[in-house]
Amino acid sequence: MKNSKYKITIGLEVHAHLKTQTKLFCRCPNRTGAEPNTLICPVCTGQPGTLPVAGEESVLQAVRAALALNCKINKYSVFERKQYFYPDLPKNYQISQYKLPLAENGYIEAGGVKIKIDRVHMEEDAGKLVHRKSETLIDYNRGGAPLIEIVSAPEITSPEQASEYLKKLRQILVYSSVSDCDMEKGSMRCDANLSLNLKESSRLGVKTEVKNMNSFKAVENALSYEARRQEELLLEGKKIDQETRLWDENNNRTAGMRSKEEAHDYRYFPDPDLPPLVVQETVVEEIRKSLPELPASKIERYMGEMGIGEYDARVLCQEKEGAEFFENAYSKLEDKKKGVKKLSSWINTELKGKMNTEGMDFKNIQLDPGSLAELVNLIQSGKISGKMAKDIFEIMWNEKKCPQEIVEKRGLSQISGEDKIEGLCRRAIEENPGLAEKYLTGKEGTIGPLVGFVMKETRGQANPSMVNKKLRQILDGKK
Ligand SMILES: [Zn+2]
Repeated sequence: MKNSKYKITIGLEVHAHLKTQTKLFCRCPNRTGAEPNTLICPVCTGQPGTLPVAGEESVLQAVRAALALNCKINKYSVFERKQYFYPDLPKNYQISQYKLPLAENGYIEAGGVKIKIDRVHMEEDAGKLVHRKSETLIDYNRGGAPLIEIVSAPEITSPEQASEYLKKLRQILVYSSVSDCDMEKGSMRCDANLSLNLKESSRLGVKTEVKNMNSFKAVENALSYEARRQEELLLEGKKIDQETRLWDENNNRTAGMRSKEEAHDYRYFPDPDLPPLVVQETVVEEIRKSLPELPASKIERYMGEMGIGEYDARVLCQEKEGAEFFENAYSKLEDKKKGVKKLSSWINTELKGKMNTEGMDFKNIQLDPGSLAELVNLIQSGKISGKMAKDIFEIMWNEKKCPQEIVEKRGLSQISGEDKIEGLCRRAIEENPGLAEKYLTGKEGTIGPLVGFVMKETRGQANPSMVNKKLRQILDGKK
């Protein structure tokens, strides 16, 4: 959409599953992976005569999420019935919130821009249809599971920004331990509205809604496709139909699902079985205090207090467990000021590289943060070289030993003794007269291969900067 005369306006509606012990309106366990229809009761299967009761844990988790998203919590909110018929919704209505949601007026910072969150409300999930060759089965285990819906203002201006917003949203909800937000497993789902309007006009164009995207990349691709499709229609002088479209991942396109005429009239009304939800200010404040430090303020602290670059700080804070690993290791550094950059680069490159190749994450990592700090301490003090550190790291990883122990057992400590280094350098010069000659005629680049010779002779154990210095000293003395 570069050089287009249209601008894009996107709004996102995200559903996230709350992590709780029980479902929203009954005491059935809220978890996945069980045999179909084993986590159900008369309430969540909508039997006549049953009464829903809002579970405290779900409400507290929803408040927690809303606070992490900078929202204002409404003291009173109301559960309403959203009427529609669907086989996985046994009551023929879904309990949701409409006019008075749990929370409003929050924001997320994505790509340096504050994007407003209009509202966060609570609702129950539906069951799941399982399609087989000639039949469709229904699993009600998920029916009644607690969800929050997070509705952004139509302030997102590109598919890339939409994806950035979602990543930030996911990061905040995971940090706050309110949801796993796994798009592939359906614990985070996203619907998007997109419209185009002329750049000079302030009136929004006709929007279409896109559904069925199950990854950040899919959201970006679907919205890019939809923006191009609308632009082509508008350039041909055609109208955009207000409709819901499904993203077809395999064919990389969106396809019409239902038009505005077919859109549901949900006939919302307050659920007479549920009293208004009242959240006391003291409860809100307690939850606010219990929120962990969120990524944005962590990144700021890492950059300010610790002097880490922005990029490294962001990578360290990607996951909560990763940031905890880093902070734990940081506390064990001998020279925090000098060691912190080395530590962050060890975590962001060596460690994460290793974890990637072995398919691990910070939740199941076997390496102790203290050992990594110890390794950095050994490098900083000159006891081992960077090259040796890599070998030691390999052993630490495989044998779960601490670096000090490895260094002692294998006699790996760095050769830094002045006499020893001098002897090694003199030998390097003797055995490589050609290189030494070239250096003396001004080709100082030959110092590299000479250092390499010493390093090879000592299997990487010589202190390379000392070797470099000593070689120059000896050779310069011959000039
Ligand atoms: Zn139940």
